[in-house]
Amino acid sequence: MPEIKYSTIIVGGGIAGLTSAAYLSAAGQKVLLIEKNRECGGLVNSFTHDGFQFDAGVRALEDAGIIFPMLKDLGIKLDVVKSKVSLGIENEILHIEDLSSLLKYRELLLKLYPECKVEIDEVLKVIRKIMKHMDVLYGIENPVFKDLKHDREFIFRKLLPWMPRFIFTVGKINKMNMPVEEYLTTIVKNTSLRDIISQHFFKNTPTFFALSYFSLYLDYFYPKGGVGKLPEALKNKILECGGEIKTETKITEVIADKSLLRDQNNITYKYDNLIWAADLKTFYKITGTEGFPSKIKTSFEESKTKMLKNRGGDSVFSLFLGVDEPLESFRKIANGHFFYTPSKIGLGETHRGELNYILTNFERIDKDQILAWLDKFTGLNTYEISIPGLKDPEMVPPGKTGIIISFLAEYDLFNLIQKAGWLDEFISELENRVLRVISDSVYPMLKDKIIARFSFTPLSIEIRVGSSEGAITGWSFQKFMPVVNKIQNSDHSVLTPIPSIYQAGQWAYSPAGVPMSILTGKLAADRVLKKMKKFKAT
Ligand SMILES: Cc1cc2nc3c(=O)[nH]c(=O)nc-3n(C[C@H](O)[C@H](O)[C@H](O)COP(=O)(O)OP(=O)(O)OC[C@H]3O[C@@H](n4cnc5c(N)ncnc54)[C@H](O)[C@@H]3O)c2cc1C
Repeated sequence: MPEIKYSTIIVGGGIAGLTSAAYLSAAGQKVLLIEKNRECGGLVNSFTHDGFQFDAGVRALEDAGIIFPMLKDLGIKLDVVKSKVSLGIENEILHIEDLSSLLKYRELLLKLYPECKVEIDEVLKVIRKIMKHMDVLYGIENPVFKDLKHDREFIFRKLLPWMPRFIFTVGKINKMNMPVEEYLTTIVKNTSLRDIISQHFFKNTPTFFALSYFSLYLDYFYPKGGVGKLPEALKNKILECGGEIKTETKITEVIADKSLLRDQNNITYKYDNLIWAADLKTFYKITGTEGFPSKIKTSFEESKTKMLKNRGGDSVFSLFLGVDEPLESFRKIANGHFFYTPSKIGLGETHRGELNYILTNFERIDKDQILAWLDKFTGLNTYEISIPGLKDPEMVPPGKTGIIISFLAEYDLFNLIQKAGWLDEFISELENRVLRVISDSVYPMLKDKIIARFSFTPLSIEIRVGSSEGAITGWSFQKFMPVVNKIQNSDHSVLTPIPSIYQAGQWAYSPAGVPMSILTGKLAADRVLKKMKKFKAT
């Protein structure tokens, strides 16, 4: 049967692919979005288990001057609430309300590290400076989502006055690109304090990105019904505009010189333009360029080598719990989005030297040694704790609470343990330790009240969204970055060596996350539309 030809096919129904597809179908293109899972959303996803609604990926969303403008631009209404954040270390818990909470953060740190006053003040000075930069960066609605041809008020009242400040700020930001751990050694001598400030970021996160998090804590919001309501709204928009969505369809081959895709059932799809909004290593592995001129082939091979040499960034382990205890018990302690560190000692070498030792000497290390390391790792780590019911009480059965406890986790460790044949045992040991640490510290009522319990590992993420090394925000910061990583060049992040193929999402730009995935999704759609317009005009 001859395949149907689409003006644009988008592979990957995560937030990036959905954004591209929504804009292209709204512009009247013949669009097909292909997603390998039964549901769209990728790492922005919610699900129900035994009456508890949980978020599988990101726990709350940051607007970043991107999400609300995108929704407005597409005419999508989303019912949202503020997702309030608390920060806690040992018995000290701070509820972040506004900018003045930064002073309370200072007090909290001083209480725990009284000998580090000068260092704490220096860190706070830098955070404050970065927050000012963030105010500029996200100070206006992102122009990519505005109608710059017709919205004269936006152009003259907002964009033009903002531009010089933006250019100045970008210069400042680019100077703070060094890994946060390295940067902190220049201003903080106390290793515990250094860890407490930086250990919940990905390894080698650029300083600007890491220390901007205080701004982002104030920016978090939560769609009523779960973060999955955002992809659901985009999906509805695509269908309403006549776009097609094909789920449970995995693309296994890109025959780029013939503008063809092949899926797992050997069905082929023809396109004028392709937007690849999924794992980029997979794209380079499954794409053939045979019939192209040698210039394209060479450039493709060069990119391929760069991509395949690299790896995804840190992954995450998430423990999901249904608890027979009302929301009120938890509300008294912290907000529904809570970054908690049970010990002020800090991870130190536990997740660096000691973990690397385990990984490189895995064959010679026995189970007990790994479990002893796990004791330390879980006792000293920082946890992101999300309680969806505290943001939207409809997310839980009456009188009960659903909790997600997560932390950054090393894909290679889970992979090696799986190969060694004791993954289930390891997961159970890990869950037990996390539960012990959290019940012995911040939520004592957890202990005997758990009625549902399961977890997702880096391997689950790799399987579910096809993300290399189970990465949740694209490329590792520990190696050479194979994609655009400067905000002023973000427009180029969506280009590939093949003129009819664009890329979008967490692998297209670094540092990534939901807002940047949406932005690249829109930029890729814009490129396609611009090209089609040019094509029509000639
Ligand atoms: C626990 C957790 C916490 C997070 N916290 C934050 C946060 O606080 N802030 C933030 O900004 N971000 C956060 N993130 C990251 C953020 O969710 C992701 O970076 C973002 O959602 C990536 O979107 P994407 O569309 O680029 O990719 P994905 O969500 O990975 O979507 C890719 C889609 O492509 C599909 N696919 C893959 N291969 C194929 C194929 N061959 N054929 C067809 N379909 C395919 C996948 O199934 C998937 O649906 C978090 C993520 C997690 C898991």
